Parts: sequence; structure tokens; C-alpha cells
Amino acid sequence: MDLIHPMDKLEVAKALRQATADRKRLLVVGGRTHVDKGEPCEVDAELWTTQLDGLVAYEPAEMIAVVEAGMRVGELDRILWDGGQEWPCDAPPRATVGGVIAAAATSPRRLRVGPIRDTVIEMEVVTGDGRLVRSGARTVKSVTGYDLHKLMTGSLGTLGVIVQVALKVRPRPRSRRSVRVAGGLEVGRRLLDAVPGPTAVLAMPEVVELRLEGWPEETERQVEATDRVAPVTVVTEEGAFPFERPWEASAVIAEAAVPPSRLAEFLTRPFHDLPGPHLGSWGALLGVGIAWVGLSSSDGDLEALRTRARALGGIAPVVKGPGGLGNDVPPGLDVHRRLKASFDPAGVLAPGRFWGGI
Ligand SMILES: Cc1cc2nc3c(=O)[nH]c(=O)nc-3n(C[C@H](O)[C@H](O)[C@H](O)COP(=O)(O)OP(=O)(O)OC[C@H]3O[C@@H](n4cnc5c(N)ncnc54)[C@H](O)[C@@H]3O)c2cc1C
Repeated sequence: MDLIHPMDKLEVAKALRQATADRKRLLVVGGRTHVDKGEPCEVDAELWTTQLDGLVAYEPAEMIAVVEAGMRVGELDRILWDGGQEWPCDAPPRATVGGVIAAAATSPRRLRVGPIRDTVIEMEVVTGDGRLVRSGARTVKSVTGYDLHKLMTGSLGTLGVIVQVALKVRPRPRSRRSVRVAGGLEVGRRLLDAVPGPTAVLAMPEVVELRLEGWPEETERQVEATDRVAPVTVVTEEGAFPFERPWEASAVIAEAAVPPSRLAEFLTRPFHDLPGPHLGSWGALLGVGIAWVGLSSSDGDLEALRTRARALGGIAPVVKGPGGLGNDVPPGLDVHRRLKASFDPAGVLAPGRFWGGI
């Protein structure tokens, strides 16, 4: 397997023009923390983005940070910390900014901070045939043309290589509390109704963890509201959220997304005539509709989980282990195919990795 380590965007463009000329298939690799997301695809080389790690511009008063896409999330956190701000992706420190965006990773704090695509306001991308394209602008509202950076978010490196982004950052909350209570989905649902403005309500089979953020008096009130629903057993300031992720011990993890109102049904309704799934541990983000589900294998269990997700209008791609994205066909498959042909005419970028075999 060849490895390509471009030092800047011009080298990325050169590498992709060469790959197109040689019909050489490439996988874009950032921190390699999420490469299981996507259908398996055979490639001839890996293009590593980790040398593209420069800070281009950061002015805290503008609340915008412009970075090269191979910058590690841990490094960006450190830079923003000094400005009292954060980019709320909550990915592991060795993940790269471009990888988080290309994988459309979900922060456990999504209930409050929203989806990652909303934080990307400008992007530079090198297309499969080596053209450098810019989309968006460094102001929150001045986009002319199509929002191509939204299209690139979640494209799993199949349309182009993200080389630079401008990110909308947010002030770090003055006070943060992680709170744990005994319970499960039902207690979690009551907490979601009762606690004013939680940043996250994560239900697991036996416990519920909340992330509470804001001004000190605000988080104080949120802790009290939590305690009125179920006695608080643990409170920490700062520290990781969630405290632990038991589903990560499983061989296979699916990141299921269903309408928020159907999450409890998705995780608890008996499976009638379906063989399984035998759910291992899971964590469900209430109000968001996302559940990380640990499975012992990607055989019958995964298919049963996907059948259920589909019946509720959702999906269950795998983010760790074998299993890929599943057989669901994206709406407008033909449009997706034409987009792929336009961005990557020779089909050199991770062919077959995306939904619908694109
Ligand atoms: C233990 C663990 C915990 C995690 N927890 C969280 C969490 O709490 N929140 C969260 O958001 N995520 C979490 N993740 C997921 C993961 O860190 C993110 O999804 C991140 O997106 C992966 O970044 P990466 O640089 O490692 O990407 P890679 O794994 O290297 O790549 C991911 C995908 O993006 C593509 N890609 C990478 N860089 C580029 C680029 N510059 N241009 C185009 N395509 C590119 C790759 O081809 C691949 O398809 C977790 C992962 C692990 C292993």
C-alpha cells in the first residue's frame, strides 16, 4: 500500500491529478479513529492529511478559527482554550478536524451544540481530479452559490479532500457539570422534560448521565432540577462526558439514528420474529434520536437492528468493526451518482465506500 503525505493543499491537488491520470484509488486518512464508518473499499494508496495541520487565522473576537483540515482536535482545543472558546465536536484528541467533518461525527452534546455541519462556514476542498474549490465565507451569513461545504460534511472522503475550513466556535461555558442518576430511558425522558436547557441527556440501561453547562447559577439550578426527578449520585466539574462509554467494549458499535420520539421503542420493544438483536450495552442521546449500540458481532444482530431502525424511519451504520453503512439506498441516488461523477470523474476516491455503493 502506497502512502502519500502531502505537506500543503497544492501537493494534495498534485497527488489527486496524478491519481486520476493513473486511475489509482485512494483512501483519505486523518486520525484513523473512524475509518470503520463506510463500506469496505479496496484502494491502492492512502493519502494522509496529518501534515496539513497549520493554524491559518484565529481572532477570538470574531469567534471564527481557520485551520488546515489535518489539524488534530486536541491541538485545536488547546488553541481555542487560550481564547476561552471551543469547537464542540468532542472527538478524541488525535482525530483530525477534516475527519470529524467528513465523518459527520456526532458530539454527545449535540442536543445543545447542534450538528457539526452548522459549525463549518467556509471550506476548501480538492476534488478527485485535483481542482481546488472554495465554498462559503468567513462571515456567518454571506454564502453565494450552493453550500458545498454542507455537501462535503458526511461525504466520507468520497467527493474530495477537505484541506482547510473556517469554523464557527463558541464561548466555553463558565460552568460545566456532569451528573449521574440511577434509571434508564423512562427516567431520562422525565429529566429531559424537567431540567431547563440540558446540554445532553444520555440514557443507558441502568443509569442516566446529564451534561449541564452555562453560568454557575444556571448549572446549580439544573442540578437541583435533576435531583428533584431522581437523586443525584455523582456530580463532577469539568471532566469527561460521558464518564464512561460501556458500549465501546463491544466488537461492533452501530450509531443508530431514529426520530427522537421513537428512541425508546427502538431500544426496548420486543423483537417479535426477528433473530435478535442481543443488544450489548447502549447509550441513547435523548432529544436527539441517536443511540450507540454495542453488538457482539455484525451477523444477524446487526441486520435485525437495521430492520428495526428502518421500520422507524432511521438508519444504523457501524462506526466500529465490520458491517459498513447497510443496504439503505439514499433518496435521489441518481443525483448522488452524478455528484460523485462531477467531483471525482475517474472514481479514484474510496470507490464503493458511500451509501448506495458510490
Ligand atoms: C473511542 C472513540 C470515541 C469517539 N467519540 C467521539 C465523540 O464523542 N464525538 C465525536 O464526534 N466523534 C467521536 N468519535 C469518532 C471520531 O473520532 C470522529 O468521527 C472523527 O471524525 C474521526 O476523525 P479522524 O481524523 O480520525 O478521521 P479518519 O478516521 O481518519 O477518517 C474518517 C473518514 O473521514 C475521511 N476523511 C478524513 N479526513 C478527511 C479529509 N481531510 N477530507 C476528506 N475526507 C476525510 C476518511 O476517508 C474516512 O472516511 C470517537 C471515535 C472513537 C474511536
